[in-house]
Amino acid sequence: MQRPCESVVRCDGSSRPPPRGEAVRLPPMDTALAIDIGGTKLAAGIVNGDGVLLHRDEAPTPATADPDVLFAALLRLVEALPPAAHVVCGAGCGGPMTRGGEEVSPLNIPAWRHFPLRRRLHQATGLPVFVDNDAKALTLGEGWVGAAAGEQNFIGMVVSTGVGGGIVLDGRLLNGAQGNAGHIGHMVVEPGGRRCVCGSRGCLEAEASGLAIRATTGRAPSEAPAAVIARTGMLVGRAVASVANLLDLRLAVVAGSVALGFGQPFFDAAQQEIDALARLDFSVGTRIVPAGLGGAAPLIGAAAVGFRGASSFHRAP
Ligand SMILES: [Zn+2]
Repeated sequence: MQRPCESVVRCDGSSRPPPRGEAVRLPPMDTALAIDIGGTKLAAGIVNGDGVLLHRDEAPTPATADPDVLFAALLRLVEALPPAAHVVCGAGCGGPMTRGGEEVSPLNIPAWRHFPLRRRLHQATGLPVFVDNDAKALTLGEGWVGAAAGEQNFIGMVVSTGVGGGIVLDGRLLNGAQGNAGHIGHMVVEPGGRRCVCGSRGCLEAEASGLAIRATTGRAPSEAPAAVIARTGMLVGRAVASVANLLDLRLAVVAGSVALGFGQPFFDAAQQEIDALARLDFSVGTRIVPAGLGGAAPLIGAAAVGFRGASSFHRAP
């Protein structure tokens, strides 16, 4: 007798690892092929229409100067996923990029300069493909099923090796002229401060990113002293307060290994600075909280980019 819950996905929608040696079967449902492209790792996964990550796989980003070697590594991950009824492919990738990810030139992936990511993924998968900045994708995912679910106005941030962000205003993810809206990493928080990769000085990324912390302390962020953790939180809070005052939003959702690794002392310092600097009637009470989707956030965000692009993304910002 066939039991109703034979498949990999349980009746309650959660997933369990497939039994060894048995083909993975997913139930027929609309899923997105989700792809996350970072400087240290590549990831591919399957996300359903409820924002549940059903399957994921990842591999180190190959250290290569050949754009096609890198793309081939990405396709191997995709091809190793179990078969599923994908309706769309969504991808998050480091910036900068031209609008829609037609050409990507991630600062931390030198092999790709003006790489035609959207077109190549479409050719390889046959699916409609939608590409966006990885921090914007994560923001979209957090607004879909994460710590900002149901919020119409908020900023999502990633404080990691670098600092990125995305802004949802009036329920919509902002793009800007070339799709780069939300680059909070290059908001100046320390006038006359450290030189930034962008050419400016005192940017949040130049002062509070993992790379900046390594450069100034000589240690990994995981070994940062309490004073550095507090200063990093304070600077992030300074930037968030300005955004809250500028854009009439009162929630910041923060992901990334540096912020989440620092934990509560980081968030306490950030909140204290926000409380001191966000003083307008509409910005008083602005909160900063950890992202809710943890390690699944980049792929769920990539899927959100895909579903939204495919116009089947009913509950999204
Ligand atoms: Zn900068």
